[in-house]
Amino acid sequence: MAEFNIPSLDNLINQLSKLPGIGRKTAQRLAIFILKSPLDYAESLTGAIVDIKQNTRMCQRCFNIAEGDLCRVCADAHRDTGMICVVEDVVDVLAIESAHEYQGVYHVLGGVISPLAGVGVGDLRIRELLERVKQGGVREVLLALNLSTEGEATMIYLSQLLANQNVEVTRIAHGIPMGSHLEFVDQTTISRAIQGRRKI
Ligand SMILES: [Zn+2]
Repeated sequence: MAEFNIPSLDNLINQLSKLPGIGRKTAQRLAIFILKSPLDYAESLTGAIVDIKQNTRMCQRCFNIAEGDLCRVCADAHRDTGMICVVEDVVDVLAIESAHEYQGVYHVLGGVISPLAGVGVGDLRIRELLERVKQGGVREVLLALNLSTEGEATMIYLSQLLANQNVEVTRIAHGIPMGSHLEFVDQTTISRAIQGRRKI
């Protein structure tokens, strides 16, 4: 869609408007901002975008974002590997880490079971979670999925799957409103939800 009939500007607006939460108006504002910025900034911005694609990958253990084989949490010898917190997405790891309450490690599922969206058990990293638990040394699996209908159903499925694995399965406490995403919940509420976790 031509906006200004300046192909390079219109192209940048089109690219920016593909970003989540960025409408046409915001894309235009950002493009004009970049246009007016020094070349240095434009080069740093494109460099950072290419850099994140080239230098990050999935943690081999928990599927969090990593720059080496393991993510920062898995590579930290001070973290409690006997406790695995299961989350939907990497943004949930960031949300929980920002609360500075949780000392265990993570497992990023990659979503929740959602038949309507065509997401089944095989599309998530459930087999990998079970393998980690079966390897031993895990005392507790804390389910911290978003409190949507699909999140609830997935937590029930996982608790049944782990029922005979000699591991305690807990979930974060109520206090996080139904339907809310962890990434938008404040740090105090996350801390309380982890402290008040309960057995399933
Ligand atoms: Zn990891």
